[in-house]
Formats: sequence, structure tokens, C-alpha cells
Amino acid sequence: MNGTPATTSSGSCATAGAAGGGGDKCSPSSSSRNSDTGYLGCNYNQEFLAAANGGIEVRRVNDKVGQGVFATKNFKKGDQVLTDLPIVTCQFAWNHLYKYKACDYCMRALETAEENVRRLTQIPTFDLPYPDLCATKKELIVTCDECPAMYCSAQCKEKAFNEYHQILCFHAENPPENVSRLDDFWRSMHYPPETSNIMLLVRLLVKLHLDSDKSLLQRIGNFCQASANEDEELAHKVLGDEYSLQVTTLRQLVISIVNFPNIQQWLTPEGFLKLFVLIGRNSQGVGTSPFATYVENVEKQELPVDEKKAVLDTIDHIYEVMDSVIGHFMDNEGVALYPLQSWVNHSCVPNCEVKFPEKNHRVGLIALEDIAIGEEIKISYLDLADLSRSRYSRNKYLKEHYLFSCDCPKCLEQMDDEDGTTDSNEEMSDDEDEDGNEMSE
Ligand SMILES: [Zn+2]
Ligand SMILES: [Zn+2]
Ligand SMILES: [Zn+2]
Repeated sequence: MNGTPATTSSGSCATAGAAGGGGDKCSPSSSSRNSDTGYLGCNYNQEFLAAANGGIEVRRVNDKVGQGVFATKNFKKGDQVLTDLPIVTCQFAWNHLYKYKACDYCMRALETAEENVRRLTQIPTFDLPYPDLCATKKELIVTCDECPAMYCSAQCKEKAFNEYHQILCFHAENPPENVSRLDDFWRSMHYPPETSNIMLLVRLLVKLHLDSDKSLLQRIGNFCQASANEDEELAHKVLGDEYSLQVTTLRQLVISIVNFPNIQQWLTPEGFLKLFVLIGRNSQGVGTSPFATYVENVEKQELPVDEKKAVLDTIDHIYEVMDSVIGHFMDNEGVALYPLQSWVNHSCVPNCEVKFPEKNHRVGLIALEDIAIGEEIKISYLDLADLSRSRYSRNKYLKEHYLFSCDCPKCLEQMDDEDGTTDSNEEMSDDEDEDGNEMSE
């Protein structure tokens, strides 16, 4: 089982589960931002990833769990244990529609902290103190020559073009109608908070089409471990009761965009379902926020005590207003598929948390405690709110979204707890006949 849903949510991040929202304050943070790897940080190559991941290995846990990631050296609390760059990234459809401006390739914020605050508080005249602590580099933003797609840098534009945008760009010979139809259909199925975006699958298909040395095909093959029955079951969970009709329509709409001879194996009903489930099980939420980044910079800034207090009070006030205006949806939110990070298994008492240290789609797992050599690296697939629910509720969610039940120390300890807590009753209302025994295996 390797999968991590999760969106991050402003100033709050963490792995907020599919239910979105989070609410814990853990904005992505990093003070390391040098000129080689910093702002234009989408430039990492395989050597960087290999060098940065020297303290871990992927190996088999057991037959039930499959693969996992293990420490091959000791880590201290706060260390970055693992970093990874996605195979594909995609902003959520609703997020884009609501004018959350993010790089179309790496999700980096494209509006300034002040613009962000003005939009999310709906106070168009708001003046943010210390505006130069905003990290957004608007002068580097570039747009596609043919369509409105925007990028944080020329490097992201080039990567996007080479990897998928050469096919998916809208222009005279490639009108946007087919993509719009797919996008509309997807949004009609997924009101916010959505947990994935069908365009992630479309981009992945284009990358497979352009994958001349078949290396991507091999990596994707490694992901597709589920059986046909599991595929069906999970797709059904994701799409609900109208499952058959929806998956057929989705497939037809996708084919209308990427019907290439060399990827036909993924466009058959079985192949399509496999990819769909692969993304549902393995994708990780990505969230960026120019305001959260600004807040971090303010917190690091040395200021006279009174001034610092004043600006922090202003920040608290802004968060309150944003919360009352737009609720939890403060971030640029999307989803990505990571080749390495997706092997990290779940625990309700995780030893690592998910961060985005460069304010883009590069993920970093940060140790929440000291981790000894040989220990398995675990993150939570649930957000903080869901983590505090009963064992029954946690496992119901994990079973529905990832087809496994958890036997972490917390779940084992709570094995004999009553299932009849308020939250589990609420959640059971829409469900079939799962009982506590099945959930705990
Ligand atoms: Zn970018
Ligand atoms: Zn374009
Ligand atoms: Zn657990």
C-alpha cells in the first residue's frame, strides 16, 4: 500500500486527507534556498535525488503491506528524511477555477502575498506590512506562447512543454473543447474538496506516449500492483454509485484527447481503470501559499518587539478574516504522483510529516522524532482532525480510500475500544455492512 492523499491547507498543511481542510499550523518551511537549488528548484535531477536520499531504502515489509521505506542511518527530529520530485503534478480543477494562481508545472504560487490576502479576505485595498518579505518573484513568471498556461520560470515552461504541454497546449490545431468537456465532467463529479484531478491522468498518458526509452512505463508498471478486483472496488469507492457510467464517460473523454497508438494498453477499460486507481491510491496532495510563505519569513525576521507583535497580530487577524470568508481553502492545491515518496506507508502515529520545503511540488518528509537505523518511515494518510477520530473511523477511511486496515501501535492499543462513538455513527450512515471485526483484521 503506498498512497497518500492529502491536501495541504494554508498555513496549515500536513497531510490533510481527502476530506481536505487540515487546520494545523505547519506551513511548508525551509530556510535553505540557495541559488543553485532554490527558487528555480524544479531543476533537480536524478543525481540530486539520489544524493539527497542517501539514508533510506525501499524494501519489502511483508506480504500484506508490500513495500515500505526504511532508514539506513539514524535521523534526528527535524531532519529531512526523504525528498522526491513528482512524475506529474496537477492543480485541482476547482482551485484553478477560483483563480488560485499557481505554476502550471510545479504549483509555486504566482500571486504576491498581498494579492493573495486581498483575494482571500475580499478586501481589495488591504496593505500588507513588510511586503518585501513576500517570496513571489513575479518578474520570472512566463506564459505559454500559445495558451494562457502560466509558469513560475522559463525552466518550468520548458519542462512542461517537453513532458506534456506540446500535446496538451490549446491552439488553433488543438482546440480546448475536448479538455473543457473532460474538465467540466470531472468537476460535476467532484465538488471541493476534490482529492485528485483527471488531468493528472491525462498528463501521465501523454508522458507515457512521449516515453521513448520506456523508463516511465517501467516505473508505472511497478505501481500497478493491485488486482483487477481491487481496481474495481477502489474505483467504485472513488466514483460512488454511478461508477460504471462515470468511468466509461471519463475514459471516452480521455480518449478524445490522447488517443495515441503506443498507449492503447492504458485506454482499454482494464488499463484505464488500473491507471485511475493507481492515481487514486498513490497520489499526494500538494499545497502552496504565498501568504504562508510570507508569514514564515516574518517569523524569521528580526524586528523590534512591538513591531513584531503588531505584524503578528495583523497576521492572526488576516487568518481569521480568510477563515470566515473562504474557510479552509486557502492554498493553491493540487495533487502529484511521486515515484519514491509513494512507497511510504501509513501509521496513525507517524514518525515523519509531509512538507514542501521549496514552496513548490518538491516534497520533503521531515522527522517528527528521532528515527533509528532500520526503522520504517511512516507518514499519516489522514489529516490531524481525522487522526484524532476513533480507530473505527480511521480504519473505515483507510479501507475505503486505500483498501487496507491499519495495525499501527495506536490501532492495536485501541483494538478493544467501543465502535459506537459519535463520529463513527455519523460516518456509518452512508455505508454498507462493515463491522469492527473486519476493519481490524
Ligand atoms: Zn514552476
Ligand atoms: Zn500552451
Ligand atoms: Zn493506525
